[in-house]
Amino acid sequence: MLDAGSGIRPLGIALQNEFQTQPISLSLLITHAHWDHIQGFPFFKPAYDSKNQISIFGCDGAGASFRQIMAEPMKVPFFPITMRELSARMDIRKLSEMKFFIGKVEIHAAFVNHPGVCVGYRIFTSGARLLSCPITSPTNFFSTPPGQNN
Ligand SMILES: [Zn+2]
Repeated sequence: MLDAGSGIRPLGIALQNEFQTQPISLSLLITHAHWDHIQGFPFFKPAYDSKNQISIFGCDGAGASFRQIMAEPMKVPFFPITMRELSARMDIRKLSEMKFFIGKVEIHAAFVNHPGVCVGYRIFTSGARLLSCPITSPTNFFSTPPGQNN
């Protein structure tokens, strides 16, 4: 999953309906901490089910750790349930490498030109390539295939 804006709410409902009693294990890549990219997470239904596993990846922001950024929308007085009270197994991971794998999916992250700290993601699967980037920037990030430097 890419970012956690308001669209994550209907996605969570759809996932719960699809998986029903089966556990859901998913990864969420956060590009940056602007409100419209994280505000939907408190309304993500799979986060409230103890059989589910959610890994969230992203970068520290200006003056806040990634963990603080993800917990912020779920603090008093903004929300009645804290991040620690979520039932799902939560794994909040600050990006320590800009190239990594989630299972068989290869992820390339790069800082991009956007106010504050922001990363774009190139995602490589066996059948497709995907780019998630809040704004374009003039770098080689968009054209370098995996296995090559830059
Ligand atoms: Zn933004």
